[in-house]
Amino acid sequence: MDAEQNKPKFDAMKKILAICLLFALNSYGQKKNAATNNNHAASQQLNALKEKTLSMLDASYAADKKTALQIWDYAELGYKETKSAALHIQNLKEAGFSVETGVAGIPTAFVATYGSGSPVIGILAEYDALPGLAQEAVPEKKSIDGKTGGHGCGHHLFGTASVSAGIAIKKLIEEKKVTGTIKVYGCPAEEGGSGKVYMVREGFFKNVDAVIHWHPANQNRVIMTSFIANKSAKFRFNGIASHAAMSPENGRSALDAVEALNHMANMMREHIPQETRIHYVITNGGKAPNVVPDFAEVYYYVRHPKREVAVDVFDRITKAAEGAALGTGTKMSYEIVGGTHDLLINKTLAELMQENLAKTGGVSYTEEEKAFGKKIQASFIGNAPPIEDASTIKPLQIEADAGGGSSDVSDVSYVVPTVGLETATWIPGTSAHSWQAVACGGTEIGTKGMLVAAKTMALTAIDLFNKPAVIQKAKEEFVKGVGSYQYKPLLGDRKPALNYRD
Ligand SMILES: [Zn+2]
Repeated sequence: MDAEQNKPKFDAMKKILAICLLFALNSYGQKKNAATNNNHAASQQLNALKEKTLSMLDASYAADKKTALQIWDYAELGYKETKSAALHIQNLKEAGFSVETGVAGIPTAFVATYGSGSPVIGILAEYDALPGLAQEAVPEKKSIDGKTGGHGCGHHLFGTASVSAGIAIKKLIEEKKVTGTIKVYGCPAEEGGSGKVYMVREGFFKNVDAVIHWHPANQNRVIMTSFIANKSAKFRFNGIASHAAMSPENGRSALDAVEALNHMANMMREHIPQETRIHYVITNGGKAPNVVPDFAEVYYYVRHPKREVAVDVFDRITKAAEGAALGTGTKMSYEIVGGTHDLLINKTLAELMQENLAKTGGVSYTEEEKAFGKKIQASFIGNAPPIEDASTIKPLQIEADAGGGSSDVSDVSYVVPTVGLETATWIPGTSAHSWQAVACGGTEIGTKGMLVAAKTMALTAIDLFNKPAVIQKAKEEFVKGVGSYQYKPLLGDRKPALNYRD
């Protein structure tokens, strides 16, 4: 058969093929349109859910403000936050959460749970104050008689925003708007007590898909700066008491040992990696100059962006402490007080949170608040940034300088993908751990920032409940970030240091 004979057959086949192709394309187009429509409907639904949640949080703001200011007033120190924890627990129980209290051997730690199944989203809450920072809510330094604690790190806002965001999510689960489990972690003693480390060590973050946290600050940003690792201990020296003038040769001064250790530590600063931070306070230096002190104690923090370096420098400090005891004829013992990792950042979750922070927006002040802020800024050393900075959102970027504080949130970040933000709860330029921070935190300047945090955390959680692919991607990033490292608490197997503030 030649080609010319078959031509009509080929033409017919071509026509059939063309019709099939057209049909297939049409059907694909219809499906694609349907998918686009579905996506559009889903994103509209998600937006509506977010709007509803923002309104819920606006509606609970007055009650949340009351809770936060009550805890600001309690100003309880690490592991002694009995009333503060009880208030959060009461609010969570009234909202319908089941609450496990006294977890990880810590009377003021709790885990509140609502819902069932996956995903399991955790929100961290803190509520401890700092010693020596009692301050009225006024724009000049004014301590409060008979009071020591002050919320210089804004943890009264921290805990309240987290509980409030958790309760908002609970309502959505209850109304079947989202499915899964929400957990609010009541984490005591962040300031040096490493409360979360015990909760991590005892497995309270097992089977959690993602953890959200925040921190009060002087700006609004998603945290992309690592916290630095920290290992701390109290070094105690026992000497021999004697009359300091009549028989000093019969005494051995424990204070001498503390001073010798501090001197060696200060010389060591030249021979350790630059980014190391060593701080100490003498917590007991004897009682009277005419008695050779038979007991003295110094409390050390050793920090570095890399936990291996922090541990290494810490070990060198303990060697110096041994040397100090040897040289002064005293005996040395030490107690590890805290130990926290560096923070493992999760970019996938940070990008998600950034979108929600942008949607929530920053903080704007009334004229009265601006006047309060101006007075606060006048007390700073150096220039203060514009007050209007509180209304802006910092762009998302990894900051090369890992400097900054340490937090036990870092330990959580090594067992669960974790993301956090800061919001402006203090007038721009305010340092954490200052009387100015305590003052701002006792006013609506602080609680307005708290509301931004509660909203951003709730919106981020809503996304996580609705976007399993994001959780999956965050987990992949997390696994890569942890690598072959097996989580090991820096504070070892010690029991919670419940009396570290005594
Ligand atoms: Zn803090």
